[in-house]
Parts: sequence; C-alpha cells; structure tokens
Amino acid sequence: MPHPNELLRDIFGFDVFRPGQEQIVEAVRTGQNTLAIMPTGGGKSLCYQLPALCRPGVTLVISPLIALMRDQVRALQEAGVCAGALTSANTEDETDAVWSAIEKGDLKLLYMAPERLATTAARDMLRRAHVSLIAVDEAHCVSQWGHDFRPDYLRIGELRRLLDVPLAAFTATADKETRAEIVEKLFDGIAPQSFLHGFDRPNIHLAFAVKNGPRRQILDFADARKGQSGIVYTATRAKTETLAQALREAGHSACYYHGGMNPDDRRQVETRFQREDGLIVVATVAFGMGIDKPDIRWVAHADLPKSIEAYYQEIGRAGRDGAPAETLTLYGPDDIRLRRSQIDEGFAPPERRGADHGRLNALLGLAEALDCRRASLLQYFGETGVTCGKCDLCDAPADVFDGTTAVRKALSAILRTGEYFGAGHLIDILLGTETDKIKARGHDALPTFGIGKEYDRRQWQAIFRQMMGHDLVRPDPERHGALRMTDRARPILRDEDKITLRRDTIKQALTRPAVKTLVSEEDAPLLSALKAKRRSLAEAAKVPAYIIFNDRTLIEMAETRPATLDDMASISGVGAKKLERYGADFLTVIAGEVESLHPSRRKLAGRAEGTVYDRLLQVQAELARGPDGCDKPMSCSASLLAKVAQLKTHDDGALTRILGDRRAERFGAAFLNVLREA
Ligand code: ADP
Ligand code: ZN
Repeated sequence: MPHPNELLRDIFGFDVFRPGQEQIVEAVRTGQNTLAIMPTGGGKSLCYQLPALCRPGVTLVISPLIALMRDQVRALQEAGVCAGALTSANTEDETDAVWSAIEKGDLKLLYMAPERLATTAARDMLRRAHVSLIAVDEAHCVSQWGHDFRPDYLRIGELRRLLDVPLAAFTATADKETRAEIVEKLFDGIAPQSFLHGFDRPNIHLAFAVKNGPRRQILDFADARKGQSGIVYTATRAKTETLAQALREAGHSACYYHGGMNPDDRRQVETRFQREDGLIVVATVAFGMGIDKPDIRWVAHADLPKSIEAYYQEIGRAGRDGAPAETLTLYGPDDIRLRRSQIDEGFAPPERRGADHGRLNALLGLAEALDCRRASLLQYFGETGVTCGKCDLCDAPADVFDGTTAVRKALSAILRTGEYFGAGHLIDILLGTETDKIKARGHDALPTFGIGKEYDRRQWQAIFRQMMGHDLVRPDPERHGALRMTDRARPILRDEDKITLRRDTIKQALTRPAVKTLVSEEDAPLLSALKAKRRSLAEAAKVPAYIIFNDRTLIEMAETRPATLDDMASISGVGAKKLERYGADFLTVIAGEVESLHPSRRKLAGRAEGTVYDRLLQVQAELARGPDGCDKPMSCSASLLAKVAQLKTHDDGALTRILGDRRAERFGAAFLNVLREA
C-alpha cells in the first residue's frame, strides 16, 4: 500500500496536510470510528478520500447533495481515481460503469445519496460490494434540531451495524447538542475518536460596517470585486430580487435565490453559480448547503445574520480553496430588533430561546468589537492565541471613547419614562427637543430632559445601537419594541462598571474603489491568461473550472512561473495525473507570456500604454463570453488592442471606429473604463 504522504502528493497534488488532516487520515485509515469537526473549506473530503485509497475494497460515501457528489466524483476521476456515484441523476451508462467497476473490484469510492439506502436491493448490493468503510459527509443532517435534518440519515446507523465496518463522520457544525446527537444516531452512543479542528480561516478577511445607505455599500463592495464570484445574503426574499436587479444594472452578472422559488429555478441558479466564473448570487440563507464552490471570492451580508454560528457558516463559504477572500457584514438597530423578535416570536421551545439570544449576543459583540474580530470570533469557538492581521480592526484600530456617562444618561431616560419608548423618543428627551409627543407626555419636565446635548442625534443613535449590541437594553415585542433595561446594564447604572464605546466612523466612499486583484499588477495578465486556458479546458470537458485547477493553484503558477514540468509538479494542487493531462497546456501559456510578448504588445513595452494594453487584455478575457458568460466567445486581435491602448480621444465614437459595432457592443464600455482610469 502506498504511503499517505505519497498519495497526498501524487494523487491530490498537495505538499503538506492541512492542520488536523494527518491525524484524522491516520485514524480513518486504521479503521477507527471517527467524528471530525472541521470548518468548511478545512479539507474534510481528503480525510476520507485518501484513506479510501489505502484500504482494501470500497469506501461508501454518503452525502446529501447530488451535485456535490457528482463534482467530487469528477474531480477524483480527473486525479486518476476509480470513483462513481449512484444517484437519481445518473444516465444508464454511468450506472453500468459503476456496476462493472464494482464487479471488477476496481471501484475505490462509491457515492450515494441517503435516500438510496431505503431499499433492500441497495443494502444487498452494498453487502456484496466489499464495502470496508462508511464515510458520512454533513453528518449534522442526522440532527432533528438543525434545519438540515434528513430523515434518511437515521438509516445510516443501521447500515453500519449491517455491514459491520468502521464509520467516519464529518461536519462543520460544532455545537455540543449536534455533536451528541451524531454520536447517538450514527455510533449507537459509543464515543468515536473525535477531532475538533482549527476554526480559523486565515485567508478570509473579516469586516463589519454600520448600515449607512446599505444598497450603496453593497454595490461599492461588489464593484471593487468585479468579475469575482460572490454571495450577498439578505434577510428577506423580496430584497434578494431587488438587490440582484441593482447589481445587474451596475454591470454585474447577478441572480437571486430564495426558498420560495420552485426547485427547478433554484437548481438552475446553483448550477450556474457552480460553473461560472464571476457570478454574484443574492440569496437568503436557503442558499446554503448545496454550495460547494471552492473559489467564492467574497461574501457580503446586506443584513445581520441571526447568530454567530450562522455568520461563521455563511462567511465560511468564501475562499475554500485557501486563496484570499473577503467579507463584509452590514448591521444596524433595525437588524437587532428583527433578530430579537424572530427569536421571541419563533417556534423554538422557551429553553432554547435563551440560548438563541445568547448566540445573537455573541454576534452583536463581534459587530461592536473594539479590537481584532478574528480573536473575538475564535474565542467563541474556544480558541485563543490567534494571530490575525486580516480584519478591519487590525487594518485600522477602532476610534473609542469612555461611554459610561453617556450610557448612564440613556439608561436614566429609559427608566424615568417607564421603559415604554423607543430610541427616537428617548433621543429627543436627551437632546431636549420639544416635540409634540414630549410636550403631550410632559417629558420636558424630566430631569433628564436636555442632558445629552454634548452629542448630536447621529452619535446618540450609535450609542443606543451599541447599547443594544452589548445587550444592555432590549426591544420588548410586547411594547412595540420599546427599549427595556437588562440585568447586564445594572453595574453601569450603579457606576460599578465602565463601558468603552466606538465612535462611528462614517466613511463616505468618495471615489469608486479600485478593483481588487488577487495578484500583483505584473502577474495579473498571466493569471487571466491561465484562467482563460482553464475555462476552455473546462468547457471542453464539461466540468466546472475549478475541477481542472483551483484559483489558488493558478495564482501560484502566475506568481512562480514554472518553466518545466518538474517545476510545475511542485505547485500545490498539481498532482501526477493532472500534471500529465494539463501540465504542458499551462506551461505553454506561461512560456508564451514570459518570452514571446505579442509583437504589438512588445512595441508598447516600457510605456504607459503597455500597462493599458495588459488591462484591456484582462478585461477582454473577463468578457470573452459576454457579461453573463453565456454568449458566443469573441475577442479582439492584438493589433486592435494595441490601437485601443494608444487611443487619444476616449469616447464611444472613436472606439467603435476601431473595433466595429459587434466588438464595441461587447467590450466598448469596459475598454473605455480602462482608458479613463489609466
Ligand atoms: P470541506 O472541508 O469544506 O469539505 P474540501 O474537502 O472541499 O473542504 O476542501 C476545500 C479545499 O481545500 C479544496 O479545494 C481542496 O482541494 C483543498 N485542500 C484540501 N486539502 C488540502 C491540502 N492538504 N493542501 C492544500 N489544499 C487542500
Ligand atoms: Zn484582526
């Protein structure tokens, strides 16, 4: 049997294990029952795929989503592994191929959807197929508490007893209740070897911002990442549609997704997202488990998620390939009110509500954090000693002030008015504004009337929001959202404790943000050339682009520019099979870029127009198949691009004269942008 390290390198193309993988692989390979909890993108699939190759017979993989299984099977086949799936989406030929591979004893991994386990025929088949290991992906689907519950997952325990083989369960859901339920349902209550691993996702940049023209904030964020795949999460279905529309109007390729759509439409969005480079999906949380795209470059929350776990899971969908990814979470007082009332008015039993408020509090604490967000996030998951440098508060420290007096004034306004009013009226009292409501209720006679004039309305709003965020006050649904003091606030009111607050820095985006690139300016043209090569290979093979190579692998190629197949082999993600299949193609692209600059480009070398030319080339590659990626491929010759790069008058007419109508229609606006930015 080959050594795991050799397989890691030769089949999967990785030099080293990720944190935790090695121990899990070892436990699974040696046939122990295991439960591994690893964050999304941590590399769970390798933890059963690699042991499967070390063990005799077939490893049965149970996974809830057909599209994901088919993807994994394709990726394994690309790497030269004999793998197959039995799902309702199979063609007859595919099913036959799986059967004959089982009979010949060649098949190493067999993927099945849980509902397939229901029939006796399937169980008989599995008994004969020499299954030597069961791997269960998304094991939290056995949990009746979670919203991913799959009744068919309850059959897995029975199957394990029937086949009498070890079982390895994997999930990204860390909470104790779910863990206990997995042990109960899959392992008959006998604790397996458990691994709880590294919740840090160091490649994901974390940022929060207070809502201030939220639509504009999201559009700016997306504009700075044009052409990169992203998800925008919203709290309501209606908003997914309007925001997707706004993004399209701003020139992005975007669509919406929510639980109210019919299954076909949903599947269509899932497939497009999986396949295409640079599509934005605006979605509710219904867009979740079906998403297994490793090259999602950003996730934005247009509204605050419901808990710290939900936040972690949602941002965790970004950057699974390990390349840099960015996130932005917007929030405001209305979000806090909405999430509180959803908990109070939800169907959860009362004992769970307290826990749910706690999880929301943890997220609000993160939103209002005064220093490193990663440290606060991981602390919640029990990890300390975190190094970050990749969050907004590490980038620029928060501007803070001692808020004790301000909070005490606000609390006193709340108490003196019987905890019957919302922030708006309370701020009027603090500022001494004589509104009709104030006069009618005689609140101008209160000792707190006008005692808060050192701050303006906006600053008071920020103080009240932070008081909600720190759970010092809570909106009471039975009093139309009036703010009531919580026990947490008592020490501050009694002057036994102090509180530090943030001064909101309202950053107005004055200029359009520059496009964020994944590599330095010199490497950008090569990266887009490599991506174009990847796209054409993926189209020919009818697979998503990342199945060929993921972004991280291409970035490494662009940065290190391997010149030989040997150099190429040392790039992360290039295994032996892929080297053999694609190595030469990509080497040609790299060599072409390095040595033989197109003569038209060479003439511009060392001049500003040279850089413009490269940008045009990049923009052209992004639009090669139109803004939605579904049009006929089109490109301009190098000499045309050189002419555009040297154009002196930057207007539509001049550009159309060079490009002709058809090309001008596809590339004109984008090229003009490049010229104007230069
Ligand atoms: P998940 O834990 O979410 O199932 P995956 O198994 O899909 O994660 O892995 C996420 C990404 O990490 C994939 O693109 C995979 O190729 C990559 N990956 C896994 N293990 C390693 C490794 N040891 N070195 C580099 N990349 C890895
Ligand atoms: Zn940080």
